[in-house]
Amino acid sequence: MKVDVFSLKKQYEKIKDELRDPIAKVLSSGGFILGEDVSLFEKEFSAYCGAKYGIGVNSGTDALFLACLACGIGKGDEVITPTYTYIATTFGISIAGAKPVFVDTEEKTYGIDTSKIEKAITDKTKAILLVHLYGHPADMDAIIRIAKKHKLKVIEDCAQAHGALYNNKKVGSFGDAACFSFYPTKNLGAFGDGGMVMTGSEEIKEKMFLLRDYGRKGRYENIIKGYNSRLDTLQAAILRVKLKHLDEWNEKRREHAVLYTRLFKEAGIDIVLPCEAGYAKHVYHQYVIRVKNRKKVLEKLSNKGINALIHYPIPVHLQECYKELSYKKGDFPVAEKCCEEVFSLPLYPELTEEEIKYVVSAVKEAL
Ligand SMILES: *Cc1c(COP(=O)(O)O)cnc(C)c1O
Repeated sequence: MKVDVFSLKKQYEKIKDELRDPIAKVLSSGGFILGEDVSLFEKEFSAYCGAKYGIGVNSGTDALFLACLACGIGKGDEVITPTYTYIATTFGISIAGAKPVFVDTEEKTYGIDTSKIEKAITDKTKAILLVHLYGHPADMDAIIRIAKKHKLKVIEDCAQAHGALYNNKKVGSFGDAACFSFYPTKNLGAFGDGGMVMTGSEEIKEKMFLLRDYGRKGRYENIIKGYNSRLDTLQAAILRVKLKHLDEWNEKRREHAVLYTRLFKEAGIDIVLPCEAGYAKHVYHQYVIRVKNRKKVLEKLSNKGINALIHYPIPVHLQECYKELSYKKGDFPVAEKCCEEVFSLPLYPELTEEEIKYVVSAVKEAL
């Protein structure tokens, strides 16, 4: 048997017929840039998230850096953020010209350790940029409490958490701004790059509309220096179709996660399993486990046709590209330990029970 870590082909086969007309409509309309489907998808997805406004952009990374700019963050500012994330989170801060200030990870949920945020605040701190990593929401009450006390902006990185709930409220509805990616393998993915910023603020929305489209007011009147970062009409049309399936796909991910967890517990083996905090509805972008002897385990799994991936092998503070920040090994011990032990098992809606059982027995043998 061979089990892929994700599979986009199976999903496409299922929705192929639904996609045909919407795609053909865009192609024959010729409205490829900021066509009708973009504003419709902005409305539909922001309504889904419980946010007032959505602004479609080119990618999740662009959503992050443009959201920072729209929140007034730039040169000379500091932004508090987890070191344990995909590096694009941090690039959002750096591309905006600000300095990332890292905080360690909470070991059970893999979110930012909120008990360590206040120590990282200085008079230059402007915002907390948190991540709902792997699809598990960060502890928003604690983060918002600290942000209010110190008058900081809150920006959510929701790239892995479309549809996740924190105390029954969708992620993306909490921050001053929230950033989504529609990279193909995300829980809601396009057929290429795409992203969106959510906000409840009229001012941030207006700034975002300018920033993503050359700072244009009229056709040739440019009131600020802007960028070219628009969600393609074609991707928006595809995402509108896929959004209708998001809840059903997330439920499947959750069912698979429950089955993995049950089988692992029954097997009684010594690995760290994902958890779901009392406030959380996890959407399992990844099903991440931890073992002590990862290298050996991954080799054995690979021999059995299971190509598990490591999310992520290096914490951001130890990345070569951030050496100017002078962090060193040992600065964030929890994140560093996680990076040495974690790996992600195959998890996507179309996975079968047989495949899950096969993976569990392969992990058991590989330990
Ligand atoms: C995927 C991802 C991003 C970047 O999104 P792109 O659309 O690939 O630019 C940012 N943050 C996190 C946590 C991600 O997983």
